[in-house]
Amino acid sequence: MFAVTGFGDENGPMEADVPPYLAGLRLERRRVVVVGGGPVAQRRVAGLAAAGADVVVVAPIVTATLEARSDITWLAERFAPLHLDGAWYAVAATDDAEVNAAVTAEAEARRIFCVRADLGRGGSAVTPATGTIDGLCLGVLAGGDPARSAAVRSEVIAALESGKLAGGRSTGPGTHRAAGVTLVGAGPGHPDLVTTGARAALASAEVVVADRLVPQSLLAELGDDVELIDVAKLPRGRAARQEEINAVLIERAQAGKRVVRLKGGDGFVFGRGFEEVEACVAAGVSVSVVPGVTSALSVPALAGIPATHRGVAHEFTVLSGHLPPGHPESLVNWPALAGLNGTLIVLMGVEQIGAIAAELMTRGKAAHTPVAVIENGGLPTQRVRRTELAHVAQCVTDEDIKPPAVFVIGPVAALG
Ligand code: SAH
Repeated sequence: MFAVTGFGDENGPMEADVPPYLAGLRLERRRVVVVGGGPVAQRRVAGLAAAGADVVVVAPIVTATLEARSDITWLAERFAPLHLDGAWYAVAATDDAEVNAAVTAEAEARRIFCVRADLGRGGSAVTPATGTIDGLCLGVLAGGDPARSAAVRSEVIAALESGKLAGGRSTGPGTHRAAGVTLVGAGPGHPDLVTTGARAALASAEVVVADRLVPQSLLAELGDDVELIDVAKLPRGRAARQEEINAVLIERAQAGKRVVRLKGGDGFVFGRGFEEVEACVAAGVSVSVVPGVTSALSVPALAGIPATHRGVAHEFTVLSGHLPPGHPESLVNWPALAGLNGTLIVLMGVEQIGAIAAELMTRGKAAHTPVAVIENGGLPTQRVRRTELAHVAQCVTDEDIKPPAVFVIGPVAALG
């Protein structure tokens, strides 16, 4: 932990430069009293409960989130000194300065450290901006400037996640992580849609096996010592390529490496991720999964199109359009899909969209059903086109739509 200090003068010049003493409190099963039940209390309770504290909330009214928590005790009462009986720590977080002052004064008399949420220097303790990553617990105090402490905290966490800060991992990043394979979903292509879990896995990777559709900025951030295997460049056809991917994952993991298998979207949505999990398990290689933001939902959303909307669509179905209807290997029940009222979301459908639209119409879906086509969702080259089922094939030809693209078929495609 570290502190950035530089206090204001709320409590007078005598104390102006005295920094607080940062400590990590072990609160497991220890009574912590939070007075107040609003959003500030809610946030403090989250951190205290995560530390295992026996949290007691004292407030006549609390937020719905606090009310729903089964791991805390809520006393629907006004604050009284006896509430502090047995407490190790207290937080005064009401919106009433007098009540907060009373809580703080009572805690002071009982030598219980107490945070005063509305007046940082009014209490005997202050709450740092905190973050955790990879077993590190970070706390920042900025002398009563919460925006600054939060910003520093977020910057440090982001730098640790991306590997820009080594975080003391001088013998190689994330040495506490065991060798094995982590299957990571990288989202549809925009760096904002990469999860923190994905970034953390990448920060400690020694080998990254990447698909074509992953955000290139992620790969650019990898250290020079990280081996990058670009699957798109592996030789041979599709099926053989999957075997080669499995083989390289297993071989590197068995050589003691931390391997990240980076895939576009979510690895379990038309990503063959589970085949890789099965291959690792069969080879005795430890494997874990970091889910990703799937293009099926995020690409329409990036174009402002919801998968569902009250009164418009009560279900959505995601399907692969890589095989035409009637293909012997197709597992799609086209008549059933044509009979649905909601949203059909077609991935990998650029080539077959004409056959798909024709089949849906033959099976009874209206020719004027709205359709949206989103090409390169989340990328600078994103294009959105709106049409109807009867005209979608022509639209793809006229506009020269290329993969990757998502088709949204149904009334939601006309919204916005
Ligand atoms: N596992 C991925 C999907 C893999 S199949 C996921 O969960 O997103 C590949 C298909 O995903 C593409 O053919 C396209 O239909 C869709 N796709 C992925 N990224 C896309 C993007 N940025 N824009 C549009 N479609 C995308």
